[in-house]
Amino acid sequence: MATEHIPLMDLKAQYLSIKGEIDAAMQSVLQAGMFVGGAPVTEFENAFAKAIGIQNCVGCGNGTDAIFLALTALGIGAGDEVATVANTFIATAEAISMTGARPVFIDCDPKTYNIDIVKLENVLAQSRKIKAIVPVHLYGSPADMPAIMSLASRYNIKVVEDCAQAHLAQINGQNVGTFGHLSTFSFYPGKNLGAYGDAGAVLSRDAEVAKRVRMWANHGRVTKYDHAFEGINSRLDTLQAAILSVKLKYLPDWTNKRIEKATLYSKLLSDSKNIICPEVLPRARHVFHLYVVRVQNRDRVLAELNEAGIQALVHYPIALPMMKAYEYLKTPIENFPMAKQCQDEVLSLPLYPELSASQIHKVCEKLREAVGD
Ligand SMILES: *Cc1c(COP(=O)(O)O)cnc(C)c1O
Repeated sequence: MATEHIPLMDLKAQYLSIKGEIDAAMQSVLQAGMFVGGAPVTEFENAFAKAIGIQNCVGCGNGTDAIFLALTALGIGAGDEVATVANTFIATAEAISMTGARPVFIDCDPKTYNIDIVKLENVLAQSRKIKAIVPVHLYGSPADMPAIMSLASRYNIKVVEDCAQAHLAQINGQNVGTFGHLSTFSFYPGKNLGAYGDAGAVLSRDAEVAKRVRMWANHGRVTKYDHAFEGINSRLDTLQAAILSVKLKYLPDWTNKRIEKATLYSKLLSDSKNIICPEVLPRARHVFHLYVVRVQNRDRVLAELNEAGIQALVHYPIALPMMKAYEYLKTPIENFPMAKQCQDEVLSLPLYPELSASQIHKVCEKLREAVGD
């Protein structure tokens, strides 16, 4: 019997489920002949701002630029330091460096794998150069924003939420992306809300700051050929905006499905002594961009799953302070015991809205076998 392949995610299945609407939306952009800016971009920006519950949304080229634009609009640059979490995708730190500032890594919390608040406070107390914090809602699990905002106000620094993995995640019923001074989203195809190419956005309560972000993302433009300053070119393409508007309508349903699948995984795995399931904090809504467990002998377990046709992956195999790209910071790696443990033990299991219960059962069976349950 051929083994069934279970992918980590299935973007084609999702496209086929809404093909008619997507094709029509793309056709209408092609027919209009306007490919940068225009009504589809404004429509998506307004709809996304409304979905998150904030006043202003500025579309841009991708989630990395979004973080750069947000920090830059807040005046962060050369000579400044910006704190972020040790275990995130490199884009978070890269965007900090793009502004000219220096990333300062903070270890992660053992329960949520998000920035450790106690360690963050210790670092803030010691450094006067830190001008901003970029917390990441990793895997779709909200970072402790109330605690982060209260630290930020005590130390008088700015907060840019990296929501690339956390569309519609919540704390106390409030969406992430509405806590920080600014927040950023990625619509990379594999994200919970994904375009068919690169796309991103910056969200802001403050219309003036949003205007500055928009100018930065569009060559510092005042009018077509009058520029107040040198910005960059990072705009949301019209085609991507039209696609995202269609997909945004389905996001609440897709998010509920992710949560259902994750709940089934946890139900099937939580009695295992060899598997640590993701923890959902009280009052938090985890939107499971990834369903990440921790196991011993992770690489062997991963290989066994892959051999059985199950596409498990590791997010992320090298924490940023341990990476060659950040050797120059000379950060003592013994400051990151939890990030080190995560890089050695985390394992992402297949999870997407179209995944079936029987596939989840199969993944759990194989995983339990591999860990020796
Ligand atoms: C994907 C991602 C980004 C960057 O988004 P792009 O659109 O790929 O540039 C930033 N931060 C995190 C945590 C991400 O997962």
